[in-house]
Amino acid sequence: MALYVQKYGGTSVGSVERIEAVADKVKSFRAQGHDIVVVVSAMSGETNRLIALAKDIQEHPDSREMDVLISTGEQVTIALLAMALKKRGIDARSYTGGQVRILTDNAHSKARIQDIETQRIRTDLDAGRVVIVAGFQGVDADGNITTLGRGGSDTTGVALAAALKADECQIYTDVDGVYTTDPRVVASACRLEKITFEEMLEMASLGSKVLQIRSVEFAGKYKVPLRVLSSFKDGPGTLITTEDEDTVEKPIISGIAFNRDEAKLTVKGVPDLPGVASRILGPISRQNIEVDMIVQNVAADKTTDFTFTVHRNDYDKAYQILQQIVAELGAREYVGNKEIAKVSIVGVGMRSHAGVASKMFDTLAAENINILMISTSEIKVSVVIAEKYMELAVRALHAAFNLDKADTVCE
Ligand code: ASP
Ligand code: MG
Repeated sequence: MALYVQKYGGTSVGSVERIEAVADKVKSFRAQGHDIVVVVSAMSGETNRLIALAKDIQEHPDSREMDVLISTGEQVTIALLAMALKKRGIDARSYTGGQVRILTDNAHSKARIQDIETQRIRTDLDAGRVVIVAGFQGVDADGNITTLGRGGSDTTGVALAAALKADECQIYTDVDGVYTTDPRVVASACRLEKITFEEMLEMASLGSKVLQIRSVEFAGKYKVPLRVLSSFKDGPGTLITTEDEDTVEKPIISGIAFNRDEAKLTVKGVPDLPGVASRILGPISRQNIEVDMIVQNVAADKTTDFTFTVHRNDYDKAYQILQQIVAELGAREYVGNKEIAKVSIVGVGMRSHAGVASKMFDTLAAENINILMISTSEIKVSVVIAEKYMELAVRALHAAFNLDKADTVCE
């Protein structure tokens, strides 16, 4: 018998029928003797609907009131699920984040969890009840309602699992696990049985949308075994856990992530002098624009080309900022490109294998795909390429690194 924290996402509780199906599932776990704490999201579309209502009143509504508003979606689903369980003869109780006391800082709309009181939940579990907690929300030290950022119910689930020392945090969603890449792009993508926290964090940061990034960070930090599974179909899902110590041959690459969210900007012919990078990126960061990749190199004429990427939404703002800087710096010109994509290979096996990056470059070369930028970390290699070649690149890499179905990483 185990203690599981089960988180059901918006689609899994998207209608009364689906909430009843979740209740059936929880009931079957209870029948096996497990203790269950359930975390739910709002019904799918509900949080967006609430945000739209607020925006009808004001473009930038008060952040405290915004959290009071958008936390209501989860209050609906906890109550409905508790009713559905009671109807099935299962004793259950629902709690908002504030009632449990999920204490957060006061950064409205992106609050961080600081502490969770577990006493009340423990008492309920000991009394044989299923405990249902509203995801995505907490309270600050003054009792104001806070929310944890979009997709934040994942983080509630993981944080509760850590606080309760649960055996597993199970994230029920509309996909049946973490895939080697998006199956909509590569039909032969397959479900991973296991992936490490580090790899999952890279995958999430690089564009895989299965889990909220912060929840993966949290799970890794507190070593909470995390499992992603489908609410609609039975199966073992994907376990996200610490790296195995065993010597069994591990795949070199676990997955391929991609995204079209970035745009690149280049300042050409900048005099090669100290302070150039800071004079270009300083004004960019002062406008709260995050820079992802950076490349700088010096040409024979002792000038440098300086290229960096930003989120596509920030592109126009960054472009305008460059306009001023370029004149001040005495640079030759500046150019921008929004039609780019970032493709990344991720795998802890890279640490112990040479030649992974060159295999990636060979594969892209064989498809005649030009690489515009490269960046690496210990467990990933990312390239920026023209957006129109993104799917081709992902498919070619998927095959080259033996990730296609029937290869070793899939069961
Ligand atoms: N309902 C919130 C959202 O849509 C939190 C969540 O679903 O995890 O972002
Ligand atoms: Mg969600």
